[in-house]
Amino acid sequence: MKIALIAHDKKKNDMIALAIKYKETLAPHDLCATGTTGTLVMGETGLKITRMKSGPLGGDQQIGSMIAEGKLDLVIFLRDPLTAQPHEPDVSALLRLCDVQNIPLATNVKSAEIMLDALQDGTFQA
Ligand code: PGA
Repeated sequence: MKIALIAHDKKKNDMIALAIKYKETLAPHDLCATGTTGTLVMGETGLKITRMKSGPLGGDQQIGSMIAEGKLDLVIFLRDPLTAQPHEPDVSALLRLCDVQNIPLATNVKSAEIMLDALQDGTFQA
């Protein structure tokens, strides 16, 4: 399964904690991430992650393009709902494309845990 990980700055610690908790679940899958998120998660977990550009520099659009091309099966995007983002149009486009393509999308930790639990126990398969 191809999985994208993205976290806004104030959610990066949550993403790291999530990746540590689900390291064994994530490890067999094909992981990609926006630049800074990918660097941090790789550094903390040792997971192999393909890194795109940083989100504000086009990484969200790169991941959006993968969604449009049917190259992703799950997106975990820990958004910060309380801070304005300079690249909000890119964020909205990515979220919209998940809905266009019917791609499972978790935008908060609890949703991500439910999806990763389902991945772990085999009830969620690509
Ligand atoms: P980053 O991008 O992982 O490069 O910080 C995330 C984002 O803000 O979209």
